[in-house]
Amino acid sequence: MSTTYPDTLLLIDNEWVEPVARQFIDVVNPATGQVIGKVAKAGREDLDRALAAAERGFAAWRKVPAHERAAIMRRAAGLLRERADDIARVLTQEQGKPLAEARVETLAGADIIEWFADEARRVYGRIVPSRNLQAQQLVIKEPVGPVAAFTPWNFPINQIVRKLGAALASGCSFLVKAPEETPASPAALLRCFVDAGIPTGTIGLVFGVPAEISSYLIASPVIRKVTFTGSTAVGKELAALAGRHMKRVTMELGGHAPVIVCEDADVALAVKASGAAKFRNAGQVCISPTRFLVHHSVKAAFVEALVKHAQGLKLGNGLEAGTTLGPLANTRRVGAIDQVIADARAKGAAVLTGGERVGSAGNFYAPTVLADVPLEASVFNDEPFGPVAAVRGFDTLEEAIAEANRLPYGLAGYAFTRSIRHAHVLAQSVEVGMLWINQPAAPTPEMPFGGVKDSGYGSEGGPEALEAYLVPKAVSIMAV
Ligand code: NAD
Repeated sequence: MSTTYPDTLLLIDNEWVEPVARQFIDVVNPATGQVIGKVAKAGREDLDRALAAAERGFAAWRKVPAHERAAIMRRAAGLLRERADDIARVLTQEQGKPLAEARVETLAGADIIEWFADEARRVYGRIVPSRNLQAQQLVIKEPVGPVAAFTPWNFPINQIVRKLGAALASGCSFLVKAPEETPASPAALLRCFVDAGIPTGTIGLVFGVPAEISSYLIASPVIRKVTFTGSTAVGKELAALAGRHMKRVTMELGGHAPVIVCEDADVALAVKASGAAKFRNAGQVCISPTRFLVHHSVKAAFVEALVKHAQGLKLGNGLEAGTTLGPLANTRRVGAIDQVIADARAKGAAVLTGGERVGSAGNFYAPTVLADVPLEASVFNDEPFGPVAAVRGFDTLEEAIAEANRLPYGLAGYAFTRSIRHAHVLAQSVEVGMLWINQPAAPTPEMPFGGVKDSGYGSEGGPEALEAYLVPKAVSIMAV
Protein backbone atom coordinates (compact mmCIF):
# COMPACT_ATOMS: atom_id res chain seq x y z
CA MET A 1 0.00 0.00 0.00
CA SER A 2 1.37 3.42 -0.98
CA THR A 3 2.18 5.65 1.97
CA THR A 4 3.58 8.63 0.11
CA TYR A 5 2.53 11.91 1.65
CA PRO A 6 2.78 15.20 -0.27
CA ASP A 7 3.98 18.55 1.09
CA THR A 8 1.35 21.29 0.80
CA LEU A 9 1.77 24.76 -0.72
CA LEU A 10 -0.56 27.75 -0.83
CA LEU A 11 -3.17 27.99 -3.60
CA ILE A 12 -3.39 31.50 -5.03
CA ASP A 13 -4.77 32.33 -8.49
CA ASN A 14 -4.94 28.61 -9.35
CA GLU A 15 -1.18 28.26 -8.76
CA TRP A 16 0.46 26.24 -5.98
CA VAL A 17 3.00 28.65 -4.53
CA GLU A 18 5.60 28.73 -1.76
CA PRO A 19 5.13 31.44 0.87
CA VAL A 20 7.22 34.55 0.29
CA ALA A 21 9.13 34.00 3.54
CA ARG A 22 9.70 30.30 2.69
CA GLN A 23 8.46 29.21 6.10
CA PHE A 24 6.85 25.82 6.66
CA ILE A 25 5.16 23.88 9.49
CA ASP A 26 5.75 20.17 10.14
CA VAL A 27 2.91 17.69 9.66
CA VAL A 28 2.87 14.71 12.04
CA ASN A 29 1.22 11.31 11.58
CA PRO A 30 -0.84 10.80 14.78
CA ALA A 31 -0.49 7.00 14.50
CA THR A 32 3.32 7.10 14.66
CA GLY A 33 4.29 10.50 16.04
CA GLN A 34 6.61 10.87 13.02
CA VAL A 35 6.93 14.00 10.88
CA ILE A 36 5.64 13.03 7.45
CA GLY A 37 5.70 16.30 5.58
CA LYS A 38 5.34 20.05 5.76
CA VAL A 39 2.82 22.74 4.98
CA ALA A 40 3.43 26.31 3.82
CA LYS A 41 3.02 29.05 6.43
CA ALA A 42 1.50 32.20 4.94
CA GLY A 43 2.60 35.69 5.98
CA ARG A 44 0.98 39.07 5.33
CA GLU A 45 2.30 39.35 1.78
CA ASP A 46 0.89 35.95 0.90
CA LEU A 47 -2.48 36.87 2.44
CA ASP A 48 -2.54 40.15 0.50
CA ARG A 49 -2.00 38.20 -2.73
CA ALA A 50 -4.70 35.70 -1.76
CA LEU A 51 -7.15 38.50 -0.95
CA ALA A 52 -6.48 40.28 -4.23
CA ALA A 53 -7.03 36.97 -6.05
CA ALA A 54 -10.33 36.40 -4.17
CA GLU A 55 -11.50 39.90 -5.14
CA ARG A 56 -10.77 39.29 -8.82
CA GLY A 57 -12.11 35.76 -8.53
CA PHE A 58 -15.43 37.05 -7.21
CA ALA A 59 -15.77 39.50 -10.08
CA ALA A 60 -15.26 36.62 -12.53
CA TRP A 61 -17.24 33.83 -10.81
CA ARG A 62 -20.38 35.85 -10.13
CA LYS A 63 -20.66 36.44 -13.88
CA VAL A 64 -20.48 32.72 -14.72
CA PRO A 65 -24.07 31.54 -15.37
CA ALA A 66 -25.43 29.22 -12.69
CA HIS A 67 -25.61 26.29 -15.13
CA GLU A 68 -21.90 26.63 -15.92
CA ARG A 69 -21.00 27.01 -12.26
CA ALA A 70 -22.93 23.82 -11.59
CA ALA A 71 -21.12 22.02 -14.42
CA ILE A 72 -17.69 22.96 -13.05
CA MET A 73 -18.72 21.87 -9.55
CA ARG A 74 -20.00 18.55 -10.90
CA ARG A 75 -16.71 18.00 -12.76
CA ALA A 76 -14.79 18.67 -9.53
CA ALA A 77 -17.03 16.22 -7.64
CA GLY A 78 -16.34 13.59 -10.32
CA LEU A 79 -12.57 14.08 -9.95
CA LEU A 80 -12.87 13.84 -6.16
CA ARG A 81 -14.70 10.54 -6.54
CA GLU A 82 -12.11 9.21 -9.03
CA ARG A 83 -9.27 10.15 -6.69
CA ALA A 84 -10.98 9.02 -3.47
CA ASP A 85 -8.69 6.05 -2.76
CA ASP A 86 -5.50 8.11 -2.98
CA ILE A 87 -6.97 11.06 -1.10
CA ALA A 88 -8.26 8.78 1.68
CA ARG A 89 -4.75 7.39 2.22
CA VAL A 90 -3.38 10.91 2.56
CA LEU A 91 -6.21 11.87 4.93
CA THR A 92 -5.63 8.85 7.18
CA GLN A 93 -1.91 9.55 7.41
CA GLU A 94 -2.40 13.13 8.56
CA GLN A 95 -5.57 12.72 10.64
CA GLY A 96 -5.51 9.13 11.90
CA LYS A 97 -9.04 7.90 11.13
CA PRO A 98 -9.46 4.40 9.67
CA LEU A 99 -9.04 4.28 5.90
CA ALA A 100 -12.65 3.20 5.37
CA GLU A 101 -13.86 6.32 7.26
CA ALA A 102 -11.49 8.53 5.25
CA ARG A 103 -12.87 7.06 2.04
CA VAL A 104 -16.47 7.59 3.14
CA GLU A 105 -15.63 11.21 4.03
CA THR A 106 -14.09 11.82 0.59
CA LEU A 107 -16.99 10.24 -1.28
CA ALA A 108 -19.50 12.12 0.88
CA GLY A 109 -17.61 15.27 -0.11
CA ALA A 110 -18.35 14.53 -3.77
CA ASP A 111 -22.02 13.95 -2.94
CA ILE A 112 -22.26 17.26 -1.06
CA ILE A 113 -20.62 19.22 -3.89
CA GLU A 114 -23.06 17.70 -6.40
CA TRP A 115 -26.03 18.58 -4.22
CA PHE A 116 -24.89 22.20 -3.99
CA ALA A 117 -24.18 22.25 -7.73
CA ASP A 118 -27.83 21.41 -8.33
CA GLU A 119 -28.92 24.08 -5.85
CA ALA A 120 -26.91 26.67 -7.81
CA ARG A 121 -29.57 26.40 -10.54
CA ARG A 122 -32.38 27.05 -8.07
CA VAL A 123 -31.34 30.39 -6.60
CA TYR A 124 -34.62 32.11 -7.40
CA GLY A 125 -35.62 35.65 -6.65
CA ARG A 126 -39.27 36.82 -6.46
CA ILE A 127 -41.65 39.22 -8.13
CA VAL A 128 -43.70 40.98 -5.45
CA PRO A 129 -47.12 42.53 -6.25
CA SER A 130 -46.68 46.28 -6.36
CA ARG A 131 -48.97 48.90 -4.76
CA ASN A 132 -48.56 50.96 -7.92
CA LEU A 133 -49.49 49.05 -11.08
CA GLN A 134 -46.91 51.06 -13.06
CA ALA A 135 -44.13 49.56 -10.97
CA GLN A 136 -42.66 46.09 -10.93
CA GLN A 137 -41.03 44.98 -7.69
CA LEU A 138 -38.25 42.41 -7.89
CA VAL A 139 -36.24 40.63 -5.24
CA ILE A 140 -32.90 39.60 -6.71
CA LYS A 141 -30.59 37.22 -4.82
CA GLU A 142 -26.96 38.28 -5.16
CA PRO A 143 -23.81 36.57 -3.88
CA VAL A 144 -22.57 38.28 -0.73
CA GLY A 145 -18.94 38.48 -1.94
CA PRO A 146 -15.57 36.89 -1.16
CA VAL A 147 -15.77 34.44 1.73
CA ALA A 148 -13.15 33.71 4.40
CA ALA A 149 -13.54 30.20 5.80
CA PHE A 150 -11.77 28.58 8.75
CA THR A 151 -12.01 24.81 9.09
CA PRO A 152 -10.75 22.24 11.62
CA TRP A 153 -8.79 19.00 11.51
CA ASN A 154 -11.46 16.44 12.48
CA PHE A 155 -13.02 16.19 8.98
CA PRO A 156 -10.42 17.91 6.77
CA ILE A 157 -12.51 17.47 3.61
CA ASN A 158 -16.07 17.47 4.88
CA GLN A 159 -15.66 20.65 6.94
CA ILE A 160 -14.60 22.50 3.78
CA VAL A 161 -17.09 21.11 1.25
CA ARG A 162 -20.19 22.27 3.09
CA LYS A 163 -18.86 25.83 3.07
CA LEU A 164 -17.23 25.67 -0.36
CA GLY A 165 -20.27 24.05 -2.00
CA ALA A 166 -22.68 26.69 -0.70
CA ALA A 167 -20.32 29.58 -1.47
CA LEU A 168 -19.58 28.49 -5.05
CA ALA A 169 -23.21 27.65 -5.78
CA SER A 170 -24.16 31.16 -4.66
CA GLY A 171 -21.52 32.83 -6.86
CA CYS A 172 -19.04 33.77 -4.11
CA SER A 173 -15.28 33.36 -4.25
CA PHE A 174 -13.84 31.32 -1.41
CA LEU A 175 -10.60 31.67 0.54
CA VAL A 176 -10.07 28.98 3.17
CA LYS A 177 -7.60 28.69 5.99
CA ALA A 178 -7.59 24.94 6.34
CA PRO A 179 -6.06 23.06 9.30
CA GLU A 180 -2.27 23.07 9.53
CA GLU A 181 -2.37 19.60 11.12
CA THR A 182 -4.22 18.02 8.18
CA PRO A 183 -3.35 20.13 5.12
CA ALA A 184 -2.83 17.69 2.26
CA SER A 185 -6.35 16.31 1.90
CA PRO A 186 -7.86 19.84 1.75
CA ALA A 187 -5.27 20.64 -0.93
CA ALA A 188 -6.28 17.52 -2.86
CA LEU A 189 -9.92 18.63 -2.62
CA LEU A 190 -9.19 22.10 -4.02
CA ARG A 191 -6.98 20.60 -6.72
CA CYS A 192 -10.10 18.86 -8.08
CA PHE A 193 -11.71 22.30 -8.63
CA VAL A 194 -8.59 23.71 -10.30
CA ASP A 195 -8.44 20.66 -12.58
CA ALA A 196 -12.16 21.02 -13.28
CA GLY A 197 -11.48 24.45 -14.76
CA ILE A 198 -12.68 26.85 -12.07
CA PRO A 199 -11.77 30.45 -13.02
CA THR A 200 -8.58 31.86 -11.53
CA GLY A 201 -8.98 33.37 -8.07
CA THR A 202 -12.37 31.79 -7.35
CA ILE A 203 -10.84 29.51 -4.72
CA GLY A 204 -7.79 29.97 -2.50
CA LEU A 205 -6.10 27.95 0.22
CA VAL A 206 -3.81 29.25 2.96
CA PHE A 207 -2.26 27.95 6.18
CA GLY A 208 -0.29 29.57 8.98
CA VAL A 209 -0.89 30.88 12.49
CA PRO A 210 -4.70 30.65 12.85
CA ALA A 211 -5.22 33.77 14.98
CA GLU A 212 -2.94 35.88 12.75
CA ILE A 213 -4.71 34.78 9.58
CA SER A 214 -8.26 35.13 10.92
CA SER A 215 -7.67 38.59 12.36
CA TYR A 216 -6.14 39.76 9.08
CA LEU A 217 -8.72 38.23 6.74
CA ILE A 218 -11.80 39.14 8.78
CA ALA A 219 -10.67 42.76 9.03
CA SER A 220 -9.95 43.00 5.28
CA PRO A 221 -12.53 45.03 3.33
CA VAL A 222 -12.31 42.41 0.55
CA ILE A 223 -13.96 39.76 2.74
CA ARG A 224 -17.74 40.01 3.02
CA LYS A 225 -18.62 36.78 4.80
CA VAL A 226 -16.96 34.70 7.53
CA THR A 227 -17.63 31.05 8.21
CA PHE A 228 -15.96 29.03 10.96
CA THR A 229 -16.12 25.51 12.36
CA GLY A 230 -14.33 24.81 15.63
CA SER A 231 -14.59 25.33 19.35
CA THR A 232 -17.17 27.61 20.94
CA ALA A 233 -14.42 29.69 22.61
CA VAL A 234 -12.69 30.50 19.30
CA GLY A 235 -16.04 30.92 17.54
CA LYS A 236 -17.09 33.64 19.99
CA GLU A 237 -13.81 35.50 19.38
CA LEU A 238 -14.20 35.34 15.62
CA ALA A 239 -17.89 36.30 15.74
CA ALA A 240 -16.98 39.36 17.84
CA LEU A 241 -14.26 40.31 15.37
CA ALA A 242 -16.64 39.85 12.46
CA GLY A 243 -19.18 42.03 14.29
CA ARG A 244 -16.63 44.81 14.64
CA HIS A 245 -16.12 44.73 10.88
CA MET A 246 -19.82 44.18 10.06
CA LYS A 247 -19.26 40.87 8.27
CA ARG A 248 -21.92 38.22 7.85
CA VAL A 249 -21.16 35.11 9.86
CA THR A 250 -21.92 31.40 10.06
CA MET A 251 -20.66 29.60 13.18
CA GLU A 252 -20.65 25.81 13.53
CA LEU A 253 -19.27 25.23 17.02
CA GLY A 254 -19.00 22.64 19.73
CA GLY A 255 -21.71 20.26 20.88
CA HIS A 256 -22.47 17.90 23.74
CA ALA A 257 -25.08 15.61 22.26
CA PRO A 258 -27.53 13.90 24.61
CA VAL A 259 -28.73 10.37 23.77
CA ILE A 260 -32.06 9.67 25.45
CA VAL A 261 -32.86 5.96 25.66
CA CYS A 262 -36.47 5.53 26.82
CA GLU A 263 -37.88 2.53 28.66
CA ASP A 264 -39.64 1.44 25.44
CA ALA A 265 -36.52 1.72 23.25
CA ASP A 266 -35.07 -0.96 21.02
CA VAL A 267 -31.94 -1.25 23.16
CA ALA A 268 -29.96 -3.24 20.61
CA LEU A 269 -30.64 -0.56 17.98
CA ALA A 270 -29.75 2.20 20.46
CA VAL A 271 -26.38 0.60 21.23
CA LYS A 272 -25.62 -0.19 17.58
CA ALA A 273 -26.47 3.29 16.30
CA SER A 274 -25.11 5.43 19.11
CA GLY A 275 -22.10 3.18 19.84
CA ALA A 276 -20.96 3.42 16.21
CA ALA A 277 -21.50 7.19 16.23
CA LYS A 278 -19.70 7.62 19.56
CA PHE A 279 -16.44 6.00 18.43
CA ARG A 280 -16.42 7.19 14.80
CA ASN A 281 -13.39 9.37 14.19
CA ALA A 282 -12.35 8.50 17.78
CA GLY A 283 -15.19 10.67 19.10
CA GLN A 284 -13.69 13.85 17.60
CA VAL A 285 -16.97 14.86 16.03
CA CYS A 286 -19.09 17.90 16.90
CA ILE A 287 -22.29 15.79 16.71
CA SER A 288 -20.79 12.87 18.63
CA PRO A 289 -23.19 11.31 21.19
CA THR A 290 -21.78 12.19 24.59
CA ARG A 291 -24.30 12.24 27.44
CA PHE A 292 -26.06 8.87 27.41
CA LEU A 293 -29.27 9.29 29.43
CA VAL A 294 -30.79 5.85 29.87
CA HIS A 295 -34.05 4.92 31.59
CA HIS A 296 -33.25 2.95 34.75
CA SER A 297 -35.32 -0.04 33.59
CA VAL A 298 -33.04 -0.65 30.57
CA LYS A 299 -29.80 0.84 31.85
CA ALA A 300 -28.05 -2.42 32.86
CA ALA A 301 -28.76 -4.03 29.47
CA PHE A 302 -27.72 -0.89 27.59
CA VAL A 303 -24.47 -0.44 29.50
CA GLU A 304 -23.50 -4.09 29.15
CA ALA A 305 -24.02 -3.97 25.38
CA LEU A 306 -22.22 -0.62 24.98
CA VAL A 307 -19.19 -1.96 26.86
CA LYS A 308 -19.21 -5.02 24.61
CA HIS A 309 -19.39 -2.76 21.55
CA ALA A 310 -16.43 -0.68 22.79
CA GLN A 311 -14.37 -3.78 23.56
CA GLY A 312 -15.07 -5.14 20.08
CA LEU A 313 -13.38 -2.18 18.37
CA LYS A 314 -9.92 -2.70 16.88
CA LEU A 315 -7.60 0.14 17.85
CA GLY A 316 -4.73 0.71 15.45
CA ASN A 317 -3.11 2.58 12.60
CA GLY A 318 -5.90 3.62 10.23
CA LEU A 319 -3.95 2.31 7.25
CA GLU A 320 -4.00 -1.26 8.61
CA ALA A 321 -6.79 -3.53 7.46
CA GLY A 322 -9.36 -4.22 10.15
CA THR A 323 -8.73 -1.05 12.19
CA THR A 324 -12.03 0.38 13.42
CA LEU A 325 -10.65 3.00 15.83
CA GLY A 326 -7.67 5.19 14.96
CA PRO A 327 -5.49 7.40 17.17
CA LEU A 328 -6.55 10.80 18.47
CA ALA A 329 -5.64 13.44 15.91
CA ASN A 330 -3.03 15.25 18.00
CA THR A 331 -1.23 15.05 21.33
CA ARG A 332 -3.41 17.85 22.81
CA ARG A 333 -6.36 15.50 22.68
CA VAL A 334 -4.50 12.77 24.63
CA GLY A 335 -3.84 15.15 27.53
CA ALA A 336 -7.40 16.48 27.37
CA ILE A 337 -8.98 13.00 27.52
CA ASP A 338 -6.64 11.93 30.36
CA GLN A 339 -7.94 14.93 32.32
CA VAL A 340 -11.59 14.19 31.52
CA ILE A 341 -11.23 10.63 32.80
CA ALA A 342 -9.21 11.53 35.91
CA ASP A 343 -11.87 14.11 36.79
CA ALA A 344 -14.75 11.62 36.30
CA ARG A 345 -12.94 8.99 38.41
CA ALA A 346 -12.24 11.48 41.18
CA LYS A 347 -15.92 12.49 41.23
CA GLY A 348 -17.11 8.89 41.59
CA ALA A 349 -17.84 7.62 38.06
CA ALA A 350 -17.17 3.95 37.32
CA VAL A 351 -14.76 3.25 34.44
CA LEU A 352 -16.29 0.12 32.90
CA THR A 353 -13.83 -0.21 30.03
CA GLY A 354 -10.90 1.77 28.63
CA GLY A 355 -9.87 4.86 30.55
CA GLU A 356 -6.26 4.99 29.45
CA ARG A 357 -3.81 5.70 26.69
CA VAL A 358 -2.55 2.65 24.81
CA GLY A 359 1.17 2.36 23.98
CA SER A 360 3.62 5.24 23.87
CA ALA A 361 4.04 5.84 20.12
CA GLY A 362 1.06 7.53 18.47
CA ASN A 363 -1.98 8.99 20.20
CA PHE A 364 -3.93 5.78 20.83
CA TYR A 365 -6.64 5.90 23.46
CA ALA A 366 -8.79 2.97 24.56
CA PRO A 367 -12.52 3.36 23.85
CA THR A 368 -14.01 4.28 27.21
CA VAL A 369 -17.37 3.80 28.88
CA LEU A 370 -18.09 5.64 32.12
CA ALA A 371 -21.19 4.77 34.19
CA ASP A 372 -22.99 6.49 37.05
CA VAL A 373 -21.35 9.74 36.07
CA PRO A 374 -22.15 12.61 38.45
CA LEU A 375 -23.59 15.74 36.84
CA GLU A 376 -20.68 17.84 38.08
CA ALA A 377 -18.07 15.71 36.26
CA SER A 378 -16.38 17.65 33.47
CA VAL A 379 -17.37 14.98 30.90
CA PHE A 380 -21.01 15.87 31.53
CA ASN A 381 -20.40 19.59 31.03
CA ASP A 382 -17.53 20.28 28.63
CA GLU A 383 -17.21 18.82 25.15
CA PRO A 384 -14.84 15.84 25.62
CA PHE A 385 -14.09 15.45 21.88
CA GLY A 386 -12.74 11.94 22.29
CA PRO A 387 -13.71 8.24 22.55
CA VAL A 388 -15.56 8.56 25.85
CA ALA A 389 -19.21 7.61 26.47
CA ALA A 390 -20.70 8.81 29.77
CA VAL A 391 -23.88 7.16 31.06
CA ARG A 392 -26.46 8.23 33.66
CA GLY A 393 -29.86 6.81 34.49
CA PHE A 394 -33.20 8.67 34.54
CA ASP A 395 -36.74 7.96 35.76
CA THR A 396 -39.02 10.28 33.78
CA LEU A 397 -38.78 11.67 30.25
CA GLU A 398 -39.19 15.20 31.63
CA GLU A 399 -36.10 14.64 33.78
CA ALA A 400 -34.11 13.43 30.75
CA ILE A 401 -35.22 16.41 28.62
CA ALA A 402 -34.29 18.84 31.39
CA GLU A 403 -30.81 17.31 31.53
CA ALA A 404 -30.50 17.36 27.73
CA ASN A 405 -31.26 21.10 27.77
CA ARG A 406 -29.16 21.97 30.84
CA LEU A 407 -25.94 22.83 28.97
CA PRO A 408 -25.28 25.92 26.87
CA TYR A 409 -24.63 23.64 23.87
CA GLY A 410 -27.40 22.78 21.39
CA LEU A 411 -26.04 21.05 18.31
CA ALA A 412 -27.14 17.40 17.89
CA GLY A 413 -29.38 15.12 19.92
CA TYR A 414 -30.43 11.47 19.67
CA ALA A 415 -33.32 9.53 21.13
CA PHE A 416 -34.57 5.96 21.05
CA THR A 417 -38.20 5.16 21.73
CA ARG A 418 -41.02 3.08 20.21
CA SER A 419 -43.60 5.59 21.44
CA ILE A 420 -44.91 8.15 18.96
CA ARG A 421 -45.97 10.30 21.93
CA HIS A 422 -42.41 10.30 23.32
CA ALA A 423 -41.04 11.05 19.85
CA HIS A 424 -43.32 14.10 19.51
CA VAL A 425 -42.48 15.41 22.97
CA LEU A 426 -38.77 15.01 22.24
CA ALA A 427 -39.05 16.71 18.83
CA GLN A 428 -40.75 19.68 20.45
CA SER A 429 -38.64 19.98 23.60
CA VAL A 430 -35.00 19.14 23.00
CA GLU A 431 -33.02 22.34 22.34
CA VAL A 432 -30.79 21.29 19.44
CA GLY A 433 -30.34 22.10 15.78
CA MET A 434 -30.55 18.43 14.74
CA LEU A 435 -32.42 15.56 16.36
CA TRP A 436 -32.22 11.96 15.19
CA ILE A 437 -34.74 9.49 16.61
CA ASN A 438 -34.25 5.72 16.33
CA GLN A 439 -31.34 6.09 13.92
CA PRO A 440 -27.74 7.15 13.63
CA ALA A 441 -26.91 10.70 12.58
CA ALA A 442 -27.94 11.35 8.99
CA PRO A 443 -26.33 14.70 8.13
CA THR A 444 -27.36 14.72 4.48
CA PRO A 445 -26.71 17.91 2.48
CA GLU A 446 -30.43 18.43 1.83
CA MET A 447 -31.17 18.86 5.56
CA PRO A 448 -30.14 21.87 7.66
CA PHE A 449 -26.91 21.37 9.61
CA GLY A 450 -26.18 23.68 12.51
CA GLY A 451 -26.79 24.47 16.14
CA VAL A 452 -28.49 26.75 18.63
CA LYS A 453 -27.25 28.47 21.79
CA ASP A 454 -23.44 28.22 22.21
CA SER A 455 -23.25 25.73 19.36
CA GLY A 456 -23.48 28.60 16.91
CA TYR A 457 -25.80 29.96 14.25
CA GLY A 458 -26.48 29.57 10.57
CA SER A 459 -26.95 26.36 8.67
CA GLU A 460 -24.60 24.33 6.49
CA GLY A 461 -27.23 22.19 4.81
CA GLY A 462 -30.50 22.52 2.96
CA PRO A 463 -31.51 25.62 0.99
CA GLU A 464 -30.78 27.62 4.17
CA ALA A 465 -27.07 26.96 3.56
CA LEU A 466 -27.18 29.02 0.36
CA GLU A 467 -29.11 31.85 1.96
CA ALA A 468 -26.08 32.42 4.19
CA TYR A 469 -24.08 33.39 1.08
CA LEU A 470 -26.79 35.43 -0.63
CA VAL A 471 -28.12 38.93 -0.11
CA PRO A 472 -31.58 39.98 -1.26
CA LYS A 473 -31.64 43.15 -3.37
CA ALA A 474 -34.99 44.92 -3.59
CA VAL A 475 -35.47 46.55 -7.00
CA SER A 476 -38.54 48.51 -8.06
CA ILE A 477 -38.89 49.55 -11.73
CA MET A 478 -41.44 52.23 -12.59
CA ALA A 479 -42.77 52.34 -16.13
CA VAL A 480 -42.26 55.80 -17.66
P1 NAD B 1 -8.82 25.17 19.20
O1 NAD B 1 -10.05 25.60 19.84
O2 NAD B 1 -7.61 26.02 19.39
O3 NAD B 1 -8.98 25.01 17.62
C1 NAD B 1 -10.14 24.51 16.99
C2 NAD B 1 -10.01 24.88 15.52
O4 NAD B 1 -10.04 26.30 15.39
C3 NAD B 1 -8.67 24.49 14.90
O5 NAD B 1 -8.91 24.07 13.58
C4 NAD B 1 -7.82 25.76 14.92
O6 NAD B 1 -6.90 25.82 13.85
C5 NAD B 1 -8.87 26.81 14.77
N1 NAD B 1 -8.51 28.06 15.42
C6 NAD B 1 -8.07 28.24 16.69
N2 NAD B 1 -7.90 29.54 16.95
C7 NAD B 1 -8.25 30.21 15.83
C8 NAD B 1 -8.30 31.59 15.48
N3 NAD B 1 -8.00 32.55 16.35
N4 NAD B 1 -8.71 31.90 14.23
C9 NAD B 1 -9.06 30.95 13.33
N5 NAD B 1 -9.04 29.64 13.61
C10 NAD B 1 -8.64 29.27 14.85
O7 NAD B 1 -8.43 23.77 19.75
P2 NAD B 1 -8.05 22.35 19.18
O8 NAD B 1 -7.11 21.75 20.17
O9 NAD B 1 -7.61 22.35 17.76
O10 NAD B 1 -9.44 21.63 19.29
C11 NAD B 1 -9.99 21.55 20.58
C12 NAD B 1 -11.43 21.78 20.61
O11 NAD B 1 -11.95 22.39 19.47
C13 NAD B 1 -12.16 20.47 20.72
O12 NAD B 1 -12.23 20.07 22.05
C14 NAD B 1 -13.51 20.80 20.17
O13 NAD B 1 -14.31 21.29 21.20
C15 NAD B 1 -13.25 21.91 19.21
N6 NAD B 1 -13.33 21.46 17.80
C16 NAD B 1 -14.58 21.44 17.26
C17 NAD B 1 -14.72 21.00 15.97
C18 NAD B 1 -16.08 20.94 15.34
O14 NAD B 1 -16.28 20.17 14.42
N7 NAD B 1 -17.03 21.77 15.77
C19 NAD B 1 -13.61 20.59 15.23
C20 NAD B 1 -12.35 20.64 15.83
C21 NAD B 1 -12.22 21.09 17.12
